[in-house]
Amino acid sequence: MLIKNLIRENIKSLEAYSSARNEFKEMSSELIFIDANENPFETGLNRYPDPQQNLLKDALSSIKGISKEEILLGNGSDEVLDLIFRVFCEPKEDSVIVLPPTYGMYEVLANTNAIDLIKIPLLENFQPNVKEIIKVQDPKSKVLFLCSPNNPTANSFDANSIETLIKEFNGIVVIDEAYIDFSTQESWLGRLHEFSNLIVIQTLSKAYGLAAIRLGICYASEEIISILNKVKPPYNINQLTQDVALRALLKKEKVKNEIVTLIAERNQLMKDLEKVEIVEKVHPSDANFLLVKVDNANKRYDQLVKKGIVVRNRTHQTLCENCLRFTVGTADENKKLINTLKLV
Ligand SMILES: *Cc1c(COP(=O)(O)O)cnc(C)c1O
Repeated sequence: MLIKNLIRENIKSLEAYSSARNEFKEMSSELIFIDANENPFETGLNRYPDPQQNLLKDALSSIKGISKEEILLGNGSDEVLDLIFRVFCEPKEDSVIVLPPTYGMYEVLANTNAIDLIKIPLLENFQPNVKEIIKVQDPKSKVLFLCSPNNPTANSFDANSIETLIKEFNGIVVIDEAYIDFSTQESWLGRLHEFSNLIVIQTLSKAYGLAAIRLGICYASEEIISILNKVKPPYNINQLTQDVALRALLKKEKVKNEIVTLIAERNQLMKDLEKVEIVEKVHPSDANFLLVKVDNANKRYDQLVKKGIVVRNRTHQTLCENCLRFTVGTADENKKLINTLKLV
């Protein structure tokens, strides 16, 4: 597949804004920097941050075994997703395909970018309807969004289905792996080099416990990354975020232990929920949350809020009638949830 043919005309011919810090990279203390209209008084934050986040990418590169040129960082995955829309989708002309029920941002971004949204609902077993997706695609469907493990259904998509879709879809396939660290499935990062149209997105918002710093990570071919780079704002990752993220990436053991704890808590919560009377079904989970069918989602949602527990009511989503989504909390929080559900 020729990626070049998928890129919007105006983006192809675009010259990226060249920031002062791009033109002169060496930050030696011998030099005087009067090129960027910064404030000279040292605060630790008076200089613009590295627009290419080199230290952070070096760390990611060695941890993930992916070259720096195949990595782009965003102000959360949400910025990465928006960049993908802006690079590949012509407003009022092109479309993207999503598989509801899924992450709401794909639809929000399609709307803000004036891109048609084609919805192919998941099958009853929460797996992609591969045949239908292949059937409805046309030259205007530029991007297919696969969220695996999927939010809010909590399951991973079948690897064979994903592989077929990457091979048969005539556009960019984005696999959103926000929850991959909680999954028994392998990340598609290991197979990035096999597919020129594959983009894998991860985030520090979930397993790394850093939702507040806003750091999303995009992995793709050098060709795709270089185009996304032309469109991203020059200083999109602030210095505080770069510093905190780098420290977190180096604390591998801490993150690994927290993931093990959360998975154990998730499995316990699942067992406990199955014994609650108003619970009709706990869907299997490959993530840090559970999709749970109750007798009456609206009623139980309101009751839980009154008892001080805020959950996500997904009853109006495709295939999620009377379903609530519970994020796995601390052991104490999970116990309170179970006790409250037993009382209502
Ligand atoms: C939580 C979540 C994200 C994370 O988004 P950030 O902008 O990186 O915080 C991405 N995708 C899905 C499906 C999510 O549920």
